[in-house]
Amino acid sequence: MTHETAISDVEIIWILMFSFDSVAKLGSGIATDSLGRPLKEGDRVAYTYFYPCGRCYACLHKEPAACPHKIERPVGPSTFPHLHGAFADHYYLRPGGAIFKVPDQLADEAVAGVNCALSQVIYGLHVAGVRFGDRVVIQGAGGLGVQAAAVAKDMGAATVIVVDQIPGRLELARAFGADHTLNLKEVPDRKERVKLVRQWTGGAGADVACDLVGFPAVIPEGIEMLRSGGTYLEIGTISRGATFDFEPSLLVWGSKKIVGVIQYDPWVIPRALDFLVRTKDRWPWPRILSHKYSLDKINEAFAASEWHNKETTSITRAALTP
Ligand SMILES: [Zn+2]
Repeated sequence: MTHETAISDVEIIWILMFSFDSVAKLGSGIATDSLGRPLKEGDRVAYTYFYPCGRCYACLHKEPAACPHKIERPVGPSTFPHLHGAFADHYYLRPGGAIFKVPDQLADEAVAGVNCALSQVIYGLHVAGVRFGDRVVIQGAGGLGVQAAAVAKDMGAATVIVVDQIPGRLELARAFGADHTLNLKEVPDRKERVKLVRQWTGGAGADVACDLVGFPAVIPEGIEMLRSGGTYLEIGTISRGATFDFEPSLLVWGSKKIVGVIQYDPWVIPRALDFLVRTKDRWPWPRILSHKYSLDKINEAFAASEWHNKETTSITRAALTP
């Protein structure tokens, strides 16, 4: 049985979320995936790992991705049905979730990040309303940011600008469609960076800017890079308690919006898989996943992925294999 779980470089909580797998045992009466395609044991599948409750205020308004109950507190293996976590060679899919057969054309490595980062950024850019011809700023060229560049281009963005401070990541962002990259170390002055973004967006500023960094201090700068009426997409800063200083009148006078998303609706996963097939030759997908570790080397994988206080890491993303 294959099982790959992609490791991001920042937050442990993310790691629990990324996985695809092959079907070890189908439940009784299950013969197809969520799109009605025949499914058998041994088929590779991608799936939602969160379960909107279906009966809260958000669910009743048909916004399952906003359901506050869709993720439970982490439970250990002693709690039935025992197989709750992605760092394992088996995982139990509960009734009511969505499951999608993985196209044969895709390598395991290409699919490891389909939940997060790929589905996450597709849904985020969708919610932020990216449209044909838009100018998009992406703060952070980690796994999320690099894939967001490719997705934004595929959605029709005319200009994608990626900001980071690690040259290797910025190079990867360019390989995935970024038209311009901004190295914080080369342009240390915030005013100068905002000026460059204005210059690259015809003087107007970006239609959409995204925090895919995870450090809230970048948020005011991203909002400043927006055009009047633009939308700021918040995905990166998931740590509770993290804050930033901001002058709210800039939102008011700039008619700017901030939207936050966590996870996505199930429709995103099959589109993400189609996107990987469709862009197999357009973007260098094998470069996203740079390392593989067996499950018993998980601590090593985390240590090598850590990039805080480091100039660089050789890992863009790592996968765990059983
Ligand atoms: Zn709900």
